[in-house]
Amino acid sequence: MTTRPKTSDPVTPRVIADLRSDTVTTPTPEMRDAMAHAAVGDDVYGEDPSVNELQAEVARLCGMEAGLYMPSGTMTNQVAIALHTRRGEEVVCAEGSHIYEWELGMMAAFSGVVPRFVPAPLGVPAPEEVRAAVRHSVHQSPTGLISLENTHNKAGGTVIPLEVLAGIRAVADAEGLPLHLDGARVFNAAAALSVPLSEITRHFHTVSVCLSKGLGAPVGSVLVGRAEHMRQAHRYRKMMGGGMRQAGVLAAAALVALRGGPARLAGDHRRARVLAEALVNAGYDVNLAAVQTNIVYATIPDAAARSAAWARSGVLANALGPDSVRFVLHHQIGDEALEGALRVLTA
Ligand SMILES: *Cc1c(COP(=O)(O)O)cnc(C)c1O
Repeated sequence: MTTRPKTSDPVTPRVIADLRSDTVTTPTPEMRDAMAHAAVGDDVYGEDPSVNELQAEVARLCGMEAGLYMPSGTMTNQVAIALHTRRGEEVVCAEGSHIYEWELGMMAAFSGVVPRFVPAPLGVPAPEEVRAAVRHSVHQSPTGLISLENTHNKAGGTVIPLEVLAGIRAVADAEGLPLHLDGARVFNAAAALSVPLSEITRHFHTVSVCLSKGLGAPVGSVLVGRAEHMRQAHRYRKMMGGGMRQAGVLAAAALVALRGGPARLAGDHRRARVLAEALVNAGYDVNLAAVQTNIVYATIPDAAARSAAWARSGVLANALGPDSVRFVLHHQIGDEALEGALRVLTA
């Protein structure tokens, strides 16, 4: 079995650790084997057995009726927004939410809706703030959806406490609004809280679950919810170009990730802690309270130049602001790779 090099970046002679994202993982030999032997069919007709198995398994883990496999988390989120909203409405979401910040204005472009941010210290919006942001007046754009992100990427991979989820669900029920979860890293949240996934997902009407982040699948996310919602979602997925035909080759790898991935997340979280504390000891500013899962944001002066220098020494991390660098742990960074990375980062 051949594995591809971790990067094709010509300026990087040897990659010690690729900490740019948990999306950079490559399929394991077990995944490639499952892909080679996957049962497939035309998924637009609902006839791909591997896709159907994946959808059913994610739905079951989330305590939902049905699931729909899509090529990306952007698509599962935007299909959910299309499902729940009408043109001219607002989506109430935590400040910094991926559905707005990193999904290229798609909520406006596809669904004709706009975001209304609520404050979210450490990525956690207070139920009262969510309630205050909901609008029904004829003079204002009405709220169509409340959407949460757990873990919250831009806040540093932070986890929403279960009682806050219950509080926001109570607001949604009182206001007659649907509640969506961008659960790109909901498995990380479940691991951090040591609870089954369904303890988190049961508060939501739809959940987008990413398989190609921490779980390590090469491609895809699954949207879960009521069967009726998934029938509608099927149409929106096709409109967005997400009808993938014999997608079972991908779903087979995703099933391997789904079955083996969650148990490895605690290790990623432990290594994120080690990295964060080492950066602090090296004199960098890290908000350790935000280091709850597999993401570490550090304040690094001249972030772009610093990360370019580290890249030349084989450690890749994204500068996400003039003085901010993000490090993301994943299952292809073991203790040894982390040690190697720390030698470069703290030199
Ligand atoms: C990565 C991510 C997504 C989806 O990203 P894709 O690259 O489209 O799969 C959605 N939400 C959050 C919070 C993410 O981190």
